[in-house]
Amino acid sequence: MKALRIHGYGGPEVLRYEDAPDPEPGHGEVIVRVRACGMNHLDLDLRDGSSRIPLELPFIPGLEPAGEVEALGPGVSGVKVGDRVAPTFYYVCGHCPQCKAGRENLCANNQMFGVTRPGGYAERVVAPASTLLKLADHVSFDQAAATQVAFGTAFHMLIGRAKAQAGETVLVQAAGSGIGSAAVQIASQLGLRIIATAGSQAKLEQALAMGAQHAINYRDEAFLPRVMEITAGKGVDIVFEHVGGEVFTNSVAALAIGGRLVTCGAHAGEVTSIDIIELFRKEASVLGSYTTSMLELRQVMLLVELGKLKPVIHRALPLAEGAQAHKILANREHFGKVVLNP
Ligand SMILES: [Zn+2]
Repeated sequence: MKALRIHGYGGPEVLRYEDAPDPEPGHGEVIVRVRACGMNHLDLDLRDGSSRIPLELPFIPGLEPAGEVEALGPGVSGVKVGDRVAPTFYYVCGHCPQCKAGRENLCANNQMFGVTRPGGYAERVVAPASTLLKLADHVSFDQAAATQVAFGTAFHMLIGRAKAQAGETVLVQAAGSGIGSAAVQIASQLGLRIIATAGSQAKLEQALAMGAQHAINYRDEAFLPRVMEITAGKGVDIVFEHVGGEVFTNSVAALAIGGRLVTCGAHAGEVTSIDIIELFRKEASVLGSYTTSMLELRQVMLLVELGKLKPVIHRALPLAEGAQAHKILANREHFGKVVLNP
């Protein structure tokens, strides 16, 4: 089969479109003929080695494949050849304390496609049958491949962690990204007032079109004074943060009394300072958030099926153009997700 593999860490040029052995399904596993695979910033970090996650080289990235079941391994039931599916992008042991508490995202034994096992940058991927989410006929493979990480992560952050309530105000940082645009849609469905930041007018207009009430171009003006102006000095109830560095520091300052900052990423700076006095006097909270639970994955897939959430696909490119796709992500040219079509 054709696959996009890396043989060593480096820039986009280390992605090689080449022949790779066809995978064989083991007990309880199926072969999925991949029609689309969502791309994530983690793919770039894995490729250049900055993720600090060791990969077994040559490696096939890709967390979010979607496609048709092509072959069944021994012991598989409840799935048939031709089913339209997307494997959950990770799966867990099911018996550790975190799994038993329904916090599968924190399972220490978890396996992730395109991270701990071969992913979807290929024509075929092996998946345990137990991971398969069946897709409604009207949900396209591109949509399915653009749903899980962005919507699942944003759902877990806003609802699972920050306990967002209708009528609250949320500041969504970098609303043009995959998870940022997902957060705007979820917040809009929840009935929140949304202030979105982005680095271009086009991205701000898209955020407004998806339900944001206010948009701030962080290249033109500092977001903190503008947020304070919009909220009449009160600050926001929730900050949806995934940027880090100075953005994180100023986001803490943007919180209202009782506000919650929830974060899932820090590409702009993993270590930063915060004003502790401000934090405790406001009884504000800083919440970490890591991926999404299995229940939340099913919930976001259902919401896509119902048309309540609409995956935003910036571009779908042929698998052979994966290096180009990585450049688009690295240059932050995209609004929404970039998808590869093997
Ligand atoms: Zn577990």
